[in-house]
Amino acid sequence: MEIVKTPSDLKRLRKSMQGSVGFVPTMGALHKGHLSLIERSIKENDTTIVSIFVNPTQFLPGEDFEKYPRRYEADKKICELAGVDILFMPEVKDIYFEDEVKVKAPDVLGYVLEGHFRPGHFDGVLHIVNKLLHIASPDRAYFGKKDAQQLFLIQQMVRDHFMDVEIVSCEIVREPDGLALSSRNVYLDPDERQKAQLLSKSLKKAAKMVQMGEKNSQKIKAQMEEILQPIKVEYIEIVDRNFKRLDTIEVGNSIILVAAYVGDTRLIDNIWI
Ligand code: AMP
Repeated sequence: MEIVKTPSDLKRLRKSMQGSVGFVPTMGALHKGHLSLIERSIKENDTTIVSIFVNPTQFLPGEDFEKYPRRYEADKKICELAGVDILFMPEVKDIYFEDEVKVKAPDVLGYVLEGHFRPGHFDGVLHIVNKLLHIASPDRAYFGKKDAQQLFLIQQMVRDHFMDVEIVSCEIVREPDGLALSSRNVYLDPDERQKAQLLSKSLKKAAKMVQMGEKNSQKIKAQMEEILQPIKVEYIEIVDRNFKRLDTIEVGNSIILVAAYVGDTRLIDNIWI
């Protein structure tokens, strides 16, 4: 595995690559969720590039940018063992310029749900993903459904900018009790870890209700609220696959989303119905 530090080095290497290239952008502190994306890329491509970059522009003031887990040595090992070809670990100074031309999230979708509670977050996400896709220039790029709104916005950006990359969406990887894997789970103390499973529990209940024939979004959300009572919910929402709010569940075209604080830790989860 080769470790590359600068955009110009990666671009040079990319030009010499033969065959298909898969790319997995991450912020590191790698877990089995990341690994599932990496393994899929390795299976589907001749070369796999993984990036680790804790992107400052997607954190709002007061969020956890400083304390976000950085596990560079462990991450290198995980990538090496998985069979990653190139690990791209740039520094902020090599990625950002002053007075940049910025990519921005669309006015509405960039500022509802996650974007409402983290205004500007998706501007930062799209800005960095746009840069990384240009630097790595992959045939395929892999993203998790865990960050469903992010995934949708990236697909839109790629479409709108006529970018020549296939965005591959990957299933959510969970702990045995249902908790979606996240780098932020390390913040949870044992009591919080216990409560954190309520997110996936509420989503499971919602899926069960749909299975039993309930399609009314209000009724489903009310049940979820009850399950989530012990923690501080930010939103429960039911949208279609284009992120339009749904009053009635459409099977095969719905996503149920939840965001909540467990102690000081903000967690998100969703289920595709
Ligand atoms: P992050 O390092 O949090 O920016 O995540 C990097 C990529 O991994 C994103 O595309 C995430 O959606 C994806 N990801 C994070 N957690 C999971 C998970 N539990 N299952 C599947 N994909 C995930």
